[in-house]
Amino acid sequence: MDHLFATWRMDYITTPKYEGCIFCDFPSENRDEERYILHRGRACFVILNLYPYNPGHLMVVPYRHTHLYESLTDEECLDMNRLAARSIQVLKRAMAPEGFNMGMNLGKTAGAGMEEHLHLHVVPRWNGDNNFMPVVTDTRVVPEALDATFKKLKSSWLSFSVA
Ligand SMILES: [Zn+2]
Repeated sequence: MDHLFATWRMDYITTPKYEGCIFCDFPSENRDEERYILHRGRACFVILNLYPYNPGHLMVVPYRHTHLYESLTDEECLDMNRLAARSIQVLKRAMAPEGFNMGMNLGKTAGAGMEEHLHLHVVPRWNGDNNFMPVVTDTRVVPEALDATFKKLKSSWLSFSVA
């Protein structure tokens, strides 16, 4: 289980320290591409993690500012899970991962970097990714630029939306 949770232990971090809530602010800015917002659903949106564990590390986030999973409405729960499922389809088509980790850190003790606004991590995995990209002093080397990943995932996402 240590291994499982280590995948998203490095939660969303911002440097320099961002004042405010990125998960509230980013969707309100209407700069989706710049903010790497991949998709807007009814109750939740999907955003690329700026400090990904792996390329294609996504997060599904409710628009509503809450840290309480148990406070999610039926609509938020449904949208979060549907968007997680769609994220998996999109990642499979665009990047052919061999597995996924999916989960949440609730509370700082559990490793949440943005503990005041909950978010569901969807992390694609490839055989050997732990070996060739070791975690070094809290920084992980990701071989693919965020821009390129975003473009690839955006076109994959649109291919499903049209179908
Ligand atoms: Zn928020």
